[in-house]
Amino acid sequence: MRIIVTGSREWTCRPTIEAALRKHAAVPGQHVLVHGGAKGADLIAAAVAEELGWKVECHDADWTAPCTSDCRHAPRRRRGGSTYCPAAGVRRNQLMADLGADLALAFFRCGHANRGTWDMVQRAVRADIPVRKQWLDDLGRIHTSPQHSAPHHATPGRWDSPATVRVPFQQPSPVAQPTVGLARLS
Ligand SMILES: [Zn+2]
Repeated sequence: MRIIVTGSREWTCRPTIEAALRKHAAVPGQHVLVHGGAKGADLIAAAVAEELGWKVECHDADWTAPCTSDCRHAPRRRRGGSTYCPAAGVRRNQLMADLGADLALAFFRCGHANRGTWDMVQRAVRADIPVRKQWLDDLGRIHTSPQHSAPHHATPGRWDSPATVRVPFQQPSPVAQPTVGLARLS
């Protein structure tokens, strides 16, 4: 069984990830954990999978790679002057989705944008990989939906296109009517 783990760098709850992986450990055949090498959920999952004797496949994003011809953005510049492609993370996520998996487990942190996790989830869904999502709140509770998150919890945006980030709709405050002018007419 091939399982992708994606999740927040702020994910701290190891037992949840361990339970999620152990649930599938009994499935016959070799198990492969696929992850992105970030701190938090990724590295916790990697440690658990190693303990379970699974094969672990780490896909680090290449933050030294230049932009490609299909990039619609400018390269980012570091303080030292070197440049990098800001879409390295999404490119890595797409690769993980393209390689296929039987399941993707997503571990979100309430109160955070979880942009990278949302991006991986979207790419997994498009690749027909089933996704299970869990949220960890600040009290250490686990949720299966994001109702306890900060306002931007449910805005699956793309790292490389800030234009798609949505803000919650707010009813515009009513504009004062020019009643004075109309009263004079009558
Ligand atoms: Zn780029």
